[in-house]
Amino acid sequence: MLDRGQQTWIKWAVRNASTEKASGPYNVSLRLDGEPLANWERPGLNAGGVDVVLDWALVWRDSHQFTGAHRLTLEVRGTGAAASTLAPQTVYREFVWGQTAPQSAPTPRFYAAAQIRQQIGGVDELSASGEMVSASPQRAQDVLDIADAVYYALYSRSLYDEPLVVHLLNDADYSMWVKVECTDRAERLGGGMGKVYGERCGQIAGVTATGEAVVAGYASNWQYQNRIVLRSERTQAEVLLNLAHELGHFRQSVQRPDLDVRNASLNLYALREAQAYAHEVEFLRAIESVLGRPLLLYPRREDFAEGVEQSLASYVAEMDTEEHARGRLLLWMAVLDDPHLATQGAELRRNGSLTWQSARTVYEYLMAIAAKDVDAYVNGKIDKVDTFLPTIRSMSKRRLVNGLTDGQVGALEFQEVGLLSP
Ligand SMILES: [Zn+2]
Repeated sequence: MLDRGQQTWIKWAVRNASTEKASGPYNVSLRLDGEPLANWERPGLNAGGVDVVLDWALVWRDSHQFTGAHRLTLEVRGTGAAASTLAPQTVYREFVWGQTAPQSAPTPRFYAAAQIRQQIGGVDELSASGEMVSASPQRAQDVLDIADAVYYALYSRSLYDEPLVVHLLNDADYSMWVKVECTDRAERLGGGMGKVYGERCGQIAGVTATGEAVVAGYASNWQYQNRIVLRSERTQAEVLLNLAHELGHFRQSVQRPDLDVRNASLNLYALREAQAYAHEVEFLRAIESVLGRPLLLYPRREDFAEGVEQSLASYVAEMDTEEHARGRLLLWMAVLDDPHLATQGAELRRNGSLTWQSARTVYEYLMAIAAKDVDAYVNGKIDKVDTFLPTIRSMSKRRLVNGLTDGQVGALEFQEVGLLSP
């Protein structure tokens, strides 16, 4: 990891591992993503000799000023008479380039109520556009502007004033980022533990061995910085939702770092997912509250009703093996079955959904569960899923609305909050 805005130094060394002197000249060239950065001409190298360059200052050019994954290449090749005797050697070093932390401005950002409304108002255009965030920096900025206004409405604090950096990366950069982060973490752990951790790390971050996408992003603390890393080859609405989810994880990491356990139990992972889903509800219901109109309405149609059935069936089928499915059901069960959330449960039964304030209460409640109680709590709730499933199913289906015009139908990306969350 290299941080932008900071001086970067490069060191390299070449060793003649043979028993013969390399008597001819050779050339060492350094490239960044294929673009030449520097070149060194050397006369030759004795047997066993080492040629070293220490602390060569890398000057970033404007064309390098972007967050993401990069590849440094150092190539050594014989020149002139040595070209035929010195076999070319190339080494690669992949790295990700982040932002200097913390990102926060010297004076905290302040939003007036009118500005919050105006920025959040952009959600309609965003929901309708279907454009990929990766399409342009402006698409990414649109999402961050809305997310920041919502976050400010919820917490009276800008995202830019949080100890957090958000990285929006295309699929290739995302895969490389995960590889670099996981390799770095595994190296610090070392040995067999490091290997196991590296594999698990890749799974959580959602990259298969072949680099294929599994999940949309993750929150982590790496290199002294809280980070949210999200795939940007997604629609703006999806990235906004994913950001709302990861912000739930981020706030947990800050408030309850003791829950950030490596190789944790399924129950602890499920609890963290339930928190993040509660945070999605809080986030999107807050948008509705600021706009003063619904954002999450879906038509009473066979395909939507069928979608609800299938999603619930898949959560139940996977709830004993997969943390996201278990977390979704855990969130419903907490609201419907926990006596400490009786007020929120009554509101859900009465109104069919939670307000953002109630979702916040649920989120904070799930965040306060003591680590030693997690297994008993989660098992206790999941054991009763069968009893409550008919209630969950009928509540989800009751959300479907007759006679919606096209303009009133919510973004499809938000369906899991609109239909499948309390
Ligand atoms: Zn999650």
